[in-house]
Formats: sequence, structure tokens, C-alpha cells
Amino acid sequence: MLSTLHTNDAPSTITRMIDMGIEAFNVASAVNLVVAQRLVRRICKDCKTPHKYRDDELQSLGTEIESLRGLPFMKGAGCDTCTGTGYKGRAGLYEVMALSPELRRLILRGGSVAELRDQAVSDGMLTLRMDGMKKIERGVTTLEEVVKETAG
Ligand SMILES: [Zn+2]
Repeated sequence: MLSTLHTNDAPSTITRMIDMGIEAFNVASAVNLVVAQRLVRRICKDCKTPHKYRDDELQSLGTEIESLRGLPFMKGAGCDTCTGTGYKGRAGLYEVMALSPELRRLILRGGSVAELRDQAVSDGMLTLRMDGMKKIERGVTTLEEVVKETAG
């Protein structure tokens, strides 16, 4: 079964299907993979430069400072290629949830979005925010973009 639902993340796609009236048993047995995607702006290659955020800037972005210390942040300074915006093109953040036997059991038990997410993460899923952090480390996009697109 392949379908598209507009939800915030992969685990809420499951609970959304059940809210829509699909039996939990059918969801648990028929769904194999749920993917959530967000597009973020890509840092312009022609003006990409290292950027150091102040602690109060990191705080204002609503992220945990401790997990961000030592990350190599990049930003676009702005040039002709990107018409001064510092961004050129888009990149995707992905959250791929493969339904393990544990997840299927949790769906049958009526698990909440938070419970489904916890189980998926312990199964190895990267959340949209975690995938975003990887893309910040690799200089693909900025902290602001990831925070904006993965809030809540
Ligand atoms: Zn540029």
C-alpha cells in the first residue's frame, strides 16, 4: 500500500490512519514503511562560510545548547549566485520509519504518537530533527532552516 498523508512526522501518520477509521489491525499488517519529508533551503556553494553562533542565539532558536557545542556550523554570506540570500536550491530531510514487530504490536495496542516515536528511534529511525542535525554538520543547510522546518 502506497499513499500520501500530510502529517508532521512518520509516527503521526500511523495514528492519523487509525483516526481516519482504518482498523489498527489493517494498519499494523499492511503498512511496511512510513516516510516523512521536509524541504529546507540549501546553503549557497559560492558563499558558504563557517559561522559561529553565540549562546544566546542558540538559545533563541529553541535548541539544546549542549548538543550543539562543537558542531561545525556553516552559513551563506550572500553573493551574486544566490542574490544575497545565502541559499541556493533545496534539500530534503527524511524520517523513515520501518515497521518492526515491536512497532506492529504497539500499533495493535493503540500506542500514542510519542510511544511509536520512542520505539521507532530505538529501532534506529532518525527523526526529522536528527536528520537535520546531520545535514547541518555536513554544511548542507543552516540551523535556522532545520529549527524552522522541524519545530514541535
Ligand atoms: Zn551565495
